[in-house]
Amino acid sequence: MVGTLYIVATPLGNLEDMTFRAVRMLKEADLIAAEDTRHSKKLLNHYGITTPSIACHEHNEAAKACDLVQRLEKGTTIALISDAGTPLISDPGYRLVSMASEKGIPIVPIPGCNAAITGLSASGLPTDAFIFLGFAPKKQGRLDNFLNDAAHHKATLIFYESPRRVIRLISSAITVLGDRQACLARELTKQYEEFIRGPLSAILSTLENRETVKGECVLFITGDAEQPVALSAEQMESMIMDGLNQNIRTGELAKEIAGYANFPKSKVYDMILALKKRL
Ligand code: SAM
Repeated sequence: MVGTLYIVATPLGNLEDMTFRAVRMLKEADLIAAEDTRHSKKLLNHYGITTPSIACHEHNEAAKACDLVQRLEKGTTIALISDAGTPLISDPGYRLVSMASEKGIPIVPIPGCNAAITGLSASGLPTDAFIFLGFAPKKQGRLDNFLNDAAHHKATLIFYESPRRVIRLISSAITVLGDRQACLARELTKQYEEFIRGPLSAILSTLENRETVKGECVLFITGDAEQPVALSAEQMESMIMDGLNQNIRTGELAKEIAGYANFPKSKVYDMILALKKRL
């Protein structure tokens, strides 16, 4: 009998986000393969889980995967966990899972937290289609190419980023993608959880006005199709005035400007009426 490899999601910060099933699987497994055994101790102690653990992280995974697959082949049940969220999602585990799948070992996911999906659900941005891009490259040239490649996607873009580099990511995104609507989710599920929503430029100035940016961050940016053209009130008024001077009918003008700015037509219509009253 071969063993089973369980891929167990753990909380992003709030220990209450552990599922009953995840606790049971970690208790019942013969071995826990953890990204950082010391880090996971807190979670395991909290739930009274005494299963022995072994380290499986990005630096030893290639070698560790062979060892773990051999144990699985001999019947050991192994639960893989990472420091936070779902293993393999910008976390170690891919080599182990692909090797186990090649050997025909049963692989069972135990679902739970993930920062991208958790943040997306409260971002206020379109959720019908999204693209997870993980961590952006650190070097500026590669970052620009990476953003250029992402620029045409219609779906909401999702980036993981360290607090030290998030300002640079947002500045580069403004340059390459334009000033799109976005949301920065910080410290999800933790005491200082925060969502900063608005155009990228507004998120940037909020962060630049702080002494430091702390905590874990996920950045969501609207896709190409959803991209509103960020018009100031003055620009909008000037477009309306141009239209009125050309005697374009109110409904037609509202439709044209709303289409251009990706802004609700009814709001543009009200603005035109208000402007007409002032003339
Ligand atoms: N496996 C994890 C998951 O399922 O989301 C992701 C691990 S990856 C090494 C760590 C990155 O995930 C962080 O740099 C941050 O971008 C994001 N992240 C993790 N926890 C977060 C949190 N509590 N709030 C916001 N972002 C978080």
